[in-house]
Order: sequence, then structure tokens, then C-alpha cells
Amino acid sequence: MEKALLQAYAKTAVQVGIGLKKGQTLMIAAPIEAAEFARLCALEAYLAGARDVVMRWSDEQFSRIRYQHASEQALCDVKPWQLQSYLDYVKAPGGVAILNILAQDPQAFLGLDLAKIDKASAAVRRALAPWREYTMNDRVAWSIVAVPSRGWARKVFGDTADAEEKLWNAIFKVCRMDAPDPVQAWEEQTAFLARRRDQLNAMELTALHFTSQNGTDLTIGLADTARWEGAKSTTPDGQAFLANLPTEEIFTAPHKEKTEGVVYASRPYVYHGDLIEGLWLRFEKGRVVEYGAKKNQKLLCMLLDTDEGSRSLGEVALVPRQSPINQSGILFYNTLFDENAACHIALGDGYPSTVQGGTALSQEKLEQLGLNHSLVHEDIMIGTEDLRIDGIRRGEGTVAVFRDGGWAF
Ligand code: ZN
Ligand code: ZN
Repeated sequence: MEKALLQAYAKTAVQVGIGLKKGQTLMIAAPIEAAEFARLCALEAYLAGARDVVMRWSDEQFSRIRYQHASEQALCDVKPWQLQSYLDYVKAPGGVAILNILAQDPQAFLGLDLAKIDKASAAVRRALAPWREYTMNDRVAWSIVAVPSRGWARKVFGDTADAEEKLWNAIFKVCRMDAPDPVQAWEEQTAFLARRRDQLNAMELTALHFTSQNGTDLTIGLADTARWEGAKSTTPDGQAFLANLPTEEIFTAPHKEKTEGVVYASRPYVYHGDLIEGLWLRFEKGRVVEYGAKKNQKLLCMLLDTDEGSRSLGEVALVPRQSPINQSGILFYNTLFDENAACHIALGDGYPSTVQGGTALSQEKLEQLGLNHSLVHEDIMIGTEDLRIDGIRRGEGTVAVFRDGGWAF
């Protein structure tokens, strides 16, 4: 991998992903496999005028050892400093932003006690919920980028010496690092997504009907005052950021009680370091009432039973089959990429920004509008080459939204 490309990638993450402001503190959460890239991001942040950079290292292989040997009680014992280590920076002079760097091995926890891991991660999510409010409500700028790790690259490209190199090339390609000016290329892409978002908002849709030859026949009723989001998000003090790099999606809020029908996943899905394959869900009044999977159904069951909101939808996102990630033909085994290859739905938490004025509303008010709430938010890819989506409009009539897996307007 070329050093110049890696530098350009770090610069894009800091400038476009975070939209870092002078005087701001940047928190970087990075696995040790991503150390070289994380350091470059830190350097870019200082060069862009960051007040300081706080590095939070993680180590998946240590996590595996810990999940294997620590008791459930110890794993669920999340100390207050862990939450405080985030909250301490919220009021830092100039504010804080967080860059999450991913390099997960999709099967890092293969063979471990998944119920134990599920309980441990639920305990961490519960403990960190007050911090999550900041990111879910766009009160701080946040962004997610990914770099290859050995385990991940081998899962994607097989057990060959050049697997990591291949994954770097694939990531650079779909992240537009081959453009003459990647920062400019992303400004253009986000402007394009913003136009699509505005067109969808003008349609005043109340529901979407998905059909595909794979058996999908799903109607998703949207939350009251649902708004389409896409491209950049904005914090209350006007910092524009790109939560996911890459991003190809326009998304909105389903009503938690208004999804009906059957949907089949079109790509495998990674949960707790293992793969759920061939999954389908049947909804009634917004809740999953029947489901199945060809592989790891037990894991799907765990996800669905997390809490009250984990059987309902928190997001529906549109991604055309022309997406560069889909065109690459690569299954990344990583949601950041795979969700941007195909239309998807998410079980669990909804984004307040996807209802009118939602980031300023109370949880109670959001739920009255139909926005779902849960400890989890898990994207499941449902887009196919023949996907058809009809939009049901407020008042009357329908409008073609997708034909043959791509935009119909
Ligand atoms: Zn999404
Ligand atoms: Zn999502």
C-alpha cells in the first residue's frame, strides 16, 4: 500500500469524515492493527488545528482471550470511568469529535460462548448509553472508517499472501482514493446524495413497498414526520460531518409499529464476530413474529431478544445497485461497506435526525412519532438486482422509487 494514498485517506477521514474544527479535540478509537493509519489521522488532526488528540487503542485478540476466560460477572462489570472517559471531553474547550477506525476480523470470536459475549456487549452498551446519546443525536461529530487487518483480509480474499494488499486496494477504490482530489470527490458525492434526499423529502412518502423475486414482499410504514437523511450530518453548532466513509445511502425512520410482510437478506451479516447467513424475517404490526437463518440462527435469535425494541425497525436505507461497492463485486464481511452496497433495514434504534426536528425532542416524544428505541442498531442488507420499491404518498397515489435495483427517478 502506498504511503501517499494512506495519507490521503487519513486526510479525507479528518477533513471530510469529521470536518474537524480548529481548537477541537479529536478522539480516535483504533484497533492496534490500525496503528499506522491511526497515527496518520492524529497527525492530520494536529495539522488541521486540533487542540489535542486522544487515542483509544483496542485489541481484538485480547478481547477474545478475555471473553474466553473472564466470568460473565466480570465482563458485565463496566466501571464508571469507562463512560466518564468519553463524557470528560464533551465539555472540553472547542468540543470533541470521535473517529472510529475499524479493522475487525469478521470471525474473531468464532467458537466462543456467544451468549456470554452478547451479555457483555449489552452491559457495555447500557453503561455507555449516555455517551451514545451524543453520537445518535449528532451532538458531536463522528465518523467511521476502516482499514484491513490480516484476519479480515483473509476472510474476504482467501488465505493468500497478498490478501491485505487486495483489501487495501478495494477499500481505496470504493473510498474514491483514486480520484485526483479525494476530498473534492467526496464533496461532489455528498452533494449528489443531498439532491436525492431532497427529492425523496418532496415526495412526502408514508410507506415503502419492497418486492423482489427472492420472496421479499415487505411494506414499511414510515414514522410520523419522517425525514430522509443522507450525505452529511450537522451538529447543533454547525459542524458538517460524514458519519460513514464510504457512504452511498439515503435513509429514514420506519414507524416501529407499521412494518408488514416478509423480507430476505441479500448478503450475509456479521454479528458478534460471526456470520448470520440466509436470514429472513416476517413482520406483523412492526415486530418480527417469525424468522429463520440457514447459518447461525441462534445468533439471530439473540439479537432479536436483546430488548423491547430489537424486534422492530429503526432505519430503512436506499442504496442503488450501481453503488461502487456493489459494482466491486466484493463481499466485505463488514457492515460499513456491505450496507453501502445494497438497500438495508436496521433492527433496533432509530436516528432522531430522521424525524422532523428530532434531535431536539425527548425520547418520549420520539417514540410517540413511531421512532424505535433499542440498545442495538444492526443493519441487514436486503437490496437485490431486481428490487422494486413503490412509494406510497401522503394523500393518495404511489410513486416508483426503485426499479431493477436502482433509482426510478
Ligand atoms: Zn444505513
Ligand atoms: Zn444503520
